Amino acid sequence: MDSPLMPLFAHPAEIFERGEGPYLYTDKGERYLDFIGGIAVNAFGYGRPEIVNALKAQADKVWHVSNLFKVPGQIELGQRFADATFAEVAFFTNSGTEAVECALKLARKYHYANGNPDRIDILTFEGAFHGRSYAAVNATGNDSYLEGFGPRLPGYVTKIPYGDLDAVKAKVGPTTAAILIEPIQGEGGCRTATPEFLRGLRKLCDEQGILLMYDEIQCGFGRSGKLFAHQWIDGVEPDVMCIAKGIGAGFPLGGCLATREAAKGMTFGAHGSTYGGNPLAMAVGIAAFDLMTSPGFLEEINRNASIFTQGLASLADRHADFVVETRGKGFLRGLKIKGAPRDVQKIARDHKLLVGVAGDNVVRFAPPLIVTEAHIREAVEKLDEALAAAKSERAA
Ligand code: PLP
Repeated sequence: MDSPLMPLFAHPAEIFERGEGPYLYTDKGERYLDFIGGIAVNAFGYGRPEIVNALKAQADKVWHVSNLFKVPGQIELGQRFADATFAEVAFFTNSGTEAVECALKLARKYHYANGNPDRIDILTFEGAFHGRSYAAVNATGNDSYLEGFGPRLPGYVTKIPYGDLDAVKAKVGPTTAAILIEPIQGEGGCRTATPEFLRGLRKLCDEQGILLMYDEIQCGFGRSGKLFAHQWIDGVEPDVMCIAKGIGAGFPLGGCLATREAAKGMTFGAHGSTYGGNPLAMAVGIAAFDLMTSPGFLEEINRNASIFTQGLASLADRHADFVVETRGKGFLRGLKIKGAPRDVQKIARDHKLLVGVAGDNVVRFAPPLIVTEAHIREAVEKLDEALAAAKSERAA
């Protein structure tokens, strides 16, 4: 029978109907260890009581009122992010793409408010991924996302080599509005920006009156071992930051955080959303934030992430003829292998381990942040088997 869905995805046969901790169970009762976590979303795994209860409690009160009315949870969650980061103001969205959309508009509106309406260019990087709306695909560093959708929109300077400060400087001009960068690239292949590069960007932005905007949608919210990845490095705070994925722990939630100065153009009527910041999302977001910032939570992530680091290093050693390098930080990690990684992903799934892939021939891992040493050992064992099987299949 023809599917009633647009054929935009290539789904495997498994259908997951239940989850518990870092495990997913199919409709046939088979258990899979999830090391991709709904693509870096399910920060607390499945069925975490604090999160489930927050949603249920709010569901009994009110689901939706729209932004015609105050949603007290927006102020509560906005204040939590303000207290924990550089940010002073927030706009909540339903997805990462919408958070990016807000940032792109904010950047242009900032310069417009300053009397510089010609400053519209957004600078982005090779391998960058910022979402699938028309504005966001224009900002990506991968031409395939734009294929068939017409020419690139004006106002985007893309595919600057990631980590090359001189290349950025060469692209800055009188029409530059903002630099948008993932401190750790996700889709692009788990590449991590160096402290020197981010410090260089911050300095350049300060000197040139450009907004520095981070996309921490994938690498943020505890995934790197800090609340936000850039917080590992002193002196690199942005003017704007896009967040999503883990902050909603599986409920659709994103946000654009900014300094009051950067957001000066975002005045009444300049932007909006029907659902963004809806009471259900806010209840979950507050519960997720409080869990992530509860005493010892990030320390535990770091402890376990270092065990994973060792496991990946041992895999790279054991399969040195196949694994080119390990990538990433914390629990956003990659193994760059020889050739395209889809076969490894498929074989890992046959071994009941879910992993992702990313650009640059990377097998990607973004497990729930609650995985323990035992889960990590299980994943590394299964990966060991999957890498060996992939090698022999390729050799056959
Ligand atoms: N930015 C980054 C870095 C992402 O990884 C993603 C999603 O993978 C997005 C933006 C888009 O987020 P969403 O799919 O929630 O719209």
